[in-house]
Amino acid sequence: MSTLMESTRELVQRLQSGETAVSLTQSCLNAITSRDAAIHAFVRPIADGALADAASVDGRRQAGETLSPIAGIPIALKDNICTQGVATTCSSRMLEDFIPPYDAHVVTRLREAGAIIIGKTNLDEFAMGSSTENSAIGPTRNPWNTAHAPGGSSGGSAAAVAAQFAPLALGSDTGGSIRQPASFCGVVGLKPTYGRVSRYGLVAYASSLDQIGPFARDVEGAALLFDVIAGHDERDSTSVNRPVPKCWDTVNQPLTGLRVGVAKEHFGAGLDTEVEAATRKAIEVYRSLGATIVDLSLPHSKYAIAVYYLIACSEASSNLARYDGVHYGHRAEKFSNMIDMYKASRAEGFGAEVKRRVMLGTYALSSGYYDAYYLKALKVRRLIRNDFDAAFEKVDVILSPTSPMPAFKVGEMSDDPLKMYLADIYTISANLAGLPGISVPAGMSSSGLPIGLQLLAAPFEEERLLRAARMFENATDWSRRSPELNH
Ligand code: GLN
Repeated sequence: MSTLMESTRELVQRLQSGETAVSLTQSCLNAITSRDAAIHAFVRPIADGALADAASVDGRRQAGETLSPIAGIPIALKDNICTQGVATTCSSRMLEDFIPPYDAHVVTRLREAGAIIIGKTNLDEFAMGSSTENSAIGPTRNPWNTAHAPGGSSGGSAAAVAAQFAPLALGSDTGGSIRQPASFCGVVGLKPTYGRVSRYGLVAYASSLDQIGPFARDVEGAALLFDVIAGHDERDSTSVNRPVPKCWDTVNQPLTGLRVGVAKEHFGAGLDTEVEAATRKAIEVYRSLGATIVDLSLPHSKYAIAVYYLIACSEASSNLARYDGVHYGHRAEKFSNMIDMYKASRAEGFGAEVKRRVMLGTYALSSGYYDAYYLKALKVRRLIRNDFDAAFEKVDVILSPTSPMPAFKVGEMSDDPLKMYLADIYTISANLAGLPGISVPAGMSSSGLPIGLQLLAAPFEEERLLRAARMFENATDWSRRSPELNH
């Protein structure tokens, strides 16, 4: 563990008081060149484009233009977010040659605000996984200990921030893929409310669950990035048209009378003792800050994993039908007829986990099983949401562990998909219910791995969520630690 990390606000101030975006970008690129071979956070850095963009931001600033506080800050993007003219592979062989002809909405917003896109990060293929091991280009490693996984599926983005390759990153969260890798890598990860951030240009995994969100070294950084990407976009029919708060301005205002809910279901079997201890300590931190702690129950959360994997796989089987070698994606070279061409292209293009999910989803949607599986899952999903609606009548945020364990080792879980699925227990309900959720660093295991704390809030309450998380961050120093960067 090394010295305290510079905060996002200190970084913004440095850029506003003379440090150039070019020098900051160059130092990030140098760090990637010298250290990413050991981490493998990036599918591809974007060196030339980033330096050119940085020079243009410097020019605008020197000309006296007032720029967004994010202007000049390098950001890494998960490689399922489309970038015009730059390959977007989803870490899949299927899309290894896909060069999008357009930018995702969030990328347009970032460019307009002057953020510097520094590269595309590794993920579990098509965002299916919790470890970044299901990647066609090989796994990403956890910067705190390279024998361990960074979590997933946005493991490359989380590792890039933890390893200080980029101060900010974007990921996507369908069942925990921002929050869980944030917790494994000791950084902050925010999943916004479903509908808050446009998914235009995000390669779809499970469309009723997917959401784009920020990674940062601290809660302020998540607020800064959230402000830039949130808001209505008519090109995503699920994007909600309502005002977006200015979280960067309010994030340091503590909440008075905060009510923190603690659900008994979040402390069940399988919870690592050190994670449990860190979570209980966090409850005491909130109590000492004047919050009221309220005991809760979320009785349907025991169905969340089954419901999630039915819905996510069903939607994935439908979304991934477009990769047939004709509409999109890799086409096999050898085939005897058209059906054979589809089969061979998909067999060659997809990895094992993607195939497993397409098969599970196709089965759950097939006639005769649809009512018993998919439709039933939708009904239970509603009950899970009802539990949260009732809880948020009594509390402002719900506190829990992010993951039941600190980062596992690379390879430790990969031959047991069910075990991997079960580890998503604390994050997936937020996606099923559409809620915003954040993971903040809240401790270290005895073996030196970060532990994350999750807070959930009612839909569209990101401002309150960020302020509540920031209160914890300010009262502790977990977010200011970083791994030794000498490997
Ligand atoms: N681990 C979950 C899954 O494998 C979540 C993935 C995600 O959020 N993209 O589906």
